[in-house]
Formats: sequence, structure tokens, C-alpha cells
Amino acid sequence: MNIVWFKRDLRVEDHAALAKAAIGGDLLPLYIIEPDLWQQPDMSHRHYQFLQACLVELDHSLQALGQRLIIKVGNAVDILADLSSRYPVQALWSHQETWNGWTYQRDIAVKNWCQTHNIVWHEPSQNGVIRCLQDRDGWAKRWYQQMQKPTRPAPATLTPMVEASDTLPSFEELGLEEDGASYIQVGGRSEGLKLLDSFLNQRGEGYTKEMSSPVTAFDSCSRLSAHLAFGTLSIREVFQACEQRKREIKQMPWGTKGQWSKAMRSFSGRLRWHCHFIQKLEDESRFEFENMHPAYDALRVDSFNEDFFIAWQQGRTGYPMVDACMRALTATGWLNFRMRAMVMSFASYHLWLHWRRPALHLATLFTDYEPGIHYSQIQMQSGTTGINAIRIYNPIKQGLDQDPEGVFIRQWVPELRDIDQAFVHTPWLASADTHGYPMPIVDEKIARKAAASQIYGMRKNNATFRETAQQIFTKHGSRKSAPSRRVAKKRVPSKAQGELPL
Ligand SMILES: Cc1cc2nc3c(=O)[nH]c(=O)nc-3n(C[C@H](O)[C@H](O)[C@H](O)COP(=O)(O)OP(=O)(O)OC[C@H]3O[C@@H](n4cnc5c(N)ncnc54)[C@H](O)[C@@H]3O)c2cc1C
Repeated sequence: MNIVWFKRDLRVEDHAALAKAAIGGDLLPLYIIEPDLWQQPDMSHRHYQFLQACLVELDHSLQALGQRLIIKVGNAVDILADLSSRYPVQALWSHQETWNGWTYQRDIAVKNWCQTHNIVWHEPSQNGVIRCLQDRDGWAKRWYQQMQKPTRPAPATLTPMVEASDTLPSFEELGLEEDGASYIQVGGRSEGLKLLDSFLNQRGEGYTKEMSSPVTAFDSCSRLSAHLAFGTLSIREVFQACEQRKREIKQMPWGTKGQWSKAMRSFSGRLRWHCHFIQKLEDESRFEFENMHPAYDALRVDSFNEDFFIAWQQGRTGYPMVDACMRALTATGWLNFRMRAMVMSFASYHLWLHWRRPALHLATLFTDYEPGIHYSQIQMQSGTTGINAIRIYNPIKQGLDQDPEGVFIRQWVPELRDIDQAFVHTPWLASADTHGYPMPIVDEKIARKAAASQIYGMRKNNATFRETAQQIFTKHGSRKSAPSRRVAKKRVPSKAQGELPL
């Protein structure tokens, strides 16, 4: 018998582990709720809420094939040991997982257990991330090859097995407290498919222009991230649906295409970024905990202003755009890329907080938390990669650019609902009552300049900075990515990623 261990791949379609295991005969589809994982500081109530809906649907899909999903609660090694003591288990099948430090250690324990019990553990890849990658050159080409492979249909049938399934633990049993989410996305493949369809055929036309403003992004972005993170859809399926849509757009009569072609190009590029960033963590798991470039190890370590951190978490920094974003994120579990970058940049530069605790807080708030993307982006927005240009977002300018009329701010910061348009981004200049909305906790310009001088100073004063940055770029930097161009010979930085051999 084979065990198929579902992890971050909660679907039956385009599921290599399930399809391959089914060829070998009887199989037991297993999901393990690991209470120790849910105790980790990056896990949250909203993640479990999303997961529950995914599991319910996965169970229905498997039942339709003939065998329900078996849920077990406990430690993965103990559960596998118990099953193998009662069944003639030949092999364990699961997709490769590049996730947090805890799952990395757990997988090492499972690998050791499999080896000592003569059980083969097959781990096919489910995306474009390459295990034991030797060289980043040519990575994009390999990614396209992976994405163009045919998707795998679900097995036609599964043989029923009699094995008891545990009930899903409650939030309380896993120690997960409510965290202010009132409108988070709903999990499950059917929701993911609906989003994919509405994005590709209705919502997505203005994607390129509208992705940066939180006024438009909630509708104009695909909103597929949580589904990709939990694997209710495979990245290959989404890529191929986008390619199909591109072909349809090509056939549309001239003058009717609007912004669709541009939108689809930007979107498909981001699907590649998804794997590009996860590849970094796959190659160096320390990025979850340590600066990519060690030159920054001495920065932001002497003090951590707890009051600033709390004000930032609660959306009470006195900067309306930052506060609206933090409150919207708490309630919805989502924020568009530019606003994620801005809130992180504000915490790291203006408030001079070490990135680790803000990163964990954001991880618990993002329903789509994906460690590989998350820690790479956190470090990019904190200036610690050594291969990205330093970018310090001015929250007042971002407000004026991305929410000129203050629509988003008024929605999430009710204290400013009635403030005069002229002061919605700078309420401290207004003489009117701002209903308890705080004064700015730092002076934007002074804090920005102080941060810039520290971070640039660190680069300048480090004799080996460039050399180490070059090594980081060689190992992790993105190369030119268009499939038709040659990527192998020359190392060319991708402008989109802003990764440079400095
Ligand atoms: C500080 C910070 C932390 C982030 N943490 C996460 C995270 O934990 N999980 C996560 O999925 N994304 C993260 N992102 C990247 C990005 O903001 C989200 O992927 C995107 O906003 C999700 O919305 P969407 O699905 O509508 O994206 P779309 O714009 O519709 O893009 C489609 C898909 O492409 C991928 N993608 C888009 N932008 C990026 C990007 N910049 N880098 C890598 N992949 C991208 C995502 O899988 C996304 O679902 C983070 C960004 C920042 C600045």
C-alpha cells in the first residue's frame, strides 16, 4: 500500500504524488494536522480557517473517486509509524515542500524514519522550484519547461479503505486565538477556480494599472495567492489557463483587446516570481532567520522600540496610509504588493525595527503566507539582501499617489472619515478634531534620512560588501527571464526584480 501525504497541495487535479501513487494500486490519502506546527509563531487562526475549508473540499473530491481523506492529528513520524504497523506500507508519496524552519526539521525526521523502516519516500515537485539546484543560470528556462508540461488528471478511481479519520481539532484545541479577521478569503478549490475564471475573463483587464492602489487592487489583482499557497490550484494550471487566455486575446478583433494582453503578460511574470522567490529559501533555509547579506547583521540589533511595534501592529502610527493598510490587512488577510512593501519598509526604516518580529506578525496576518516569498520580500523591503536597490517608501507620497482622494483611508480609519480632503494624508496639519487619531510617532523625513544614512553607511564601510553581494547574486539573483532569450551564458539582472550584481 502507498500513503499519499497531502501537504500544501490540497487538490486531486494536477497532483503528481497522487497520480503516481495511484498507478501502484491501493493508497491511503492522508492529511496530518500537526499541533506543534500550529504552535509556531508564524501560524494563525485565519490560516487554519482557510485550511479547514480546503480540507472539506478535498475530502469531497476524494470521496467522489472512491476513498475519503483520512485526517490524523499528531506528530507526523508517530502517525506514519502507526499506519505502517497496521498496513503493509511500501512507499510514502508527497510533493516536495519548501516551507518554514519547523516543517524543514519535521521532513528531516520523516526522511530518517523512512530510511530506517525501508519505506521509500517519493517527493515529486509541484512547481518550478528545483531541489538541490546547482546553478541559477537557465532557471527561468527550466521553469517554463515545467509549466508547459501537461497537467495530470485525477486518478479515475481509488480503492476504498477502512481507516478511521480523526475529527478536525477546534481552534481552541490548537491554541489559535481569533485575530480580528472579519472578511478573510474562503478556502477550497471551487473558490480558487472561481477567482481564476473571473480574473482571466472579467476582473483582470486593468491589472497592470490598478494593482498598485489599494482602492482598486482588491478587485483587480487575481487574489489567487492563498490558493497557490495552500495548493488548491497548481501553479501549472494557473499558468496554462493564462496561456490559453493569451491565445484567445490574440484572436480578438483589433481594437477590442483593451489592456488584456499587457495584463496577462504581467500576471504570468508574477507566477514565475512566485517560484523564483521560493527557490531562494529552498537553497538557503537560513533566510527565514538571518540577513541574506551578513554586512547588515550589526544593524537594528541594539534596540527594539516596543511602543513603535505595537503602534504599527494596531494601525496607530499617525500615518494614515500605513494605518489604513495595517487595519485592512488585519480584517481581510490580504494587501496588494505595493502596500505590503510600504508597511514593511515603514517598520524597518522609519521605525528602525529589526525585520524578524514584524515579519512574523505579517506572516500571521497574510492568509497567503508563503515563507519563501515572504522572507525574501521582507528582506528586500528591509534592505538586507545586498542585491536589491534600497527603496524607502514615503507613506505620505504613497497615499497621495495611490489613494489621492483618501477613499481607502476613510474606509479603514474611521477617525478620519470626515476630514477635509486637503488633510487626509497629513491629519496633524488640520485644526479639525481627528477623533483620537494619533499624532505621527516619528517625523517621516528625519526618520527616513537617518535610516538611509545608516544603511548606506553600512555598505560603504564594509570592505567585502560587493564581493559578498556578488556571491549572493550568483546564487540567488534572477537572470533575464523571457523564454525565447538565451539565459545561460550572460548574467543579466532582471529589471522587474531589481536584483543587481552591485
Ligand atoms: C513584505 C511582503 C511580503 C509578502 N509575503 C507574501 C506571502 O507570504 N505570500 C505570497 O503569496 N506573496 C507574498 N508577497 C508578494 C505579493 O504581495 C503577493 O503575492 C500578492 O500581493 C498576492 O496577491 P494576488 O494573488 O492577487 O497577486 P497577483 O498580483 O494576482 O499575482 C499572481 C500570483 O503571483 C505571485 N506573486 C505576485 N507578486 C509576487 C511577488 N512580488 N513575489 C512573488 N510572487 C508574487 C503570487 O503567487 C500571486 O498569487 C509579499 C510581498 C511583500 C512586499
